[in-house]
Amino acid sequence: MKRLLLHSCCAPCSGAIIECLLRDGLRPVVFFSNSNIVPEAEYRLRLSELKRYCDSLGVETAEDIYDHGDWLRCVLGPEGARSPLAKEPERGLRCAACFRYRLGRAAEFAQKEGFDTLTTTLASSRWKDLSQVDAAGEAACSGTGVEWWGRNWRKGGLQERRNAIIREQGFYNQTFCGCEFSRRESVGAGAAEPQQPGKAEHTPACNAWRRQSCDAAPLAAAKNRQYEKA
Ligand code: SF4
Repeated sequence: MKRLLLHSCCAPCSGAIIECLLRDGLRPVVFFSNSNIVPEAEYRLRLSELKRYCDSLGVETAEDIYDHGDWLRCVLGPEGARSPLAKEPERGLRCAACFRYRLGRAAEFAQKEGFDTLTTTLASSRWKDLSQVDAAGEAACSGTGVEWWGRNWRKGGLQERRNAIIREQGFYNQTFCGCEFSRRESVGAGAAEPQQPGKAEHTPACNAWRRQSCDAAPLAAAKNRQYEKA
């Protein structure tokens, strides 16, 4: 492995993974690509916590553009907040599309910047479905020349170390996953209403992985689906 890009969702999920990589002699560049997060102030807060930690270790960070409207269009499709995906539970089809969106952007960045391997902190949380994250990573890297590293980052004591670092660092520890739908589930009726995407079309830059996200919904099959607990 020559150059490793670590897609990061937040500082709490990243601390133990970065520490483990450094201990193993791997120095990643940490890429924050999380247009799923609302409101933007929450996005900025999570980013600043991640940067604070990486700076303390001398680890380089890179930030994607923040475009929640694009995330909504690509993940929910033309129906926006009226899409059945908006009502999916965590670990459901909306999350699978969300992973494809974020890891797609990360793979694109990795390819452009000459990284040869990509992995993510997304599955370090027990609230996430490992198989969804892995499938999204494989799909995102396919055809890019970037290798997907689908390691289970919960094993080998990393889950315990994750919690210890959160306490040691006093990280801001969010109470919802990121999008307005997860926020509404967590905060309840007081949460902001979901935004409607302005335009239900793909931009010219929209490539295969984004279309795949938008086409994510064999929704009939999703009915009554049981999501495996990690
Ligand atoms: S709950 Fe989390 S993973 Fe699922 S769509 Fe929302 S932000 Fe993405």
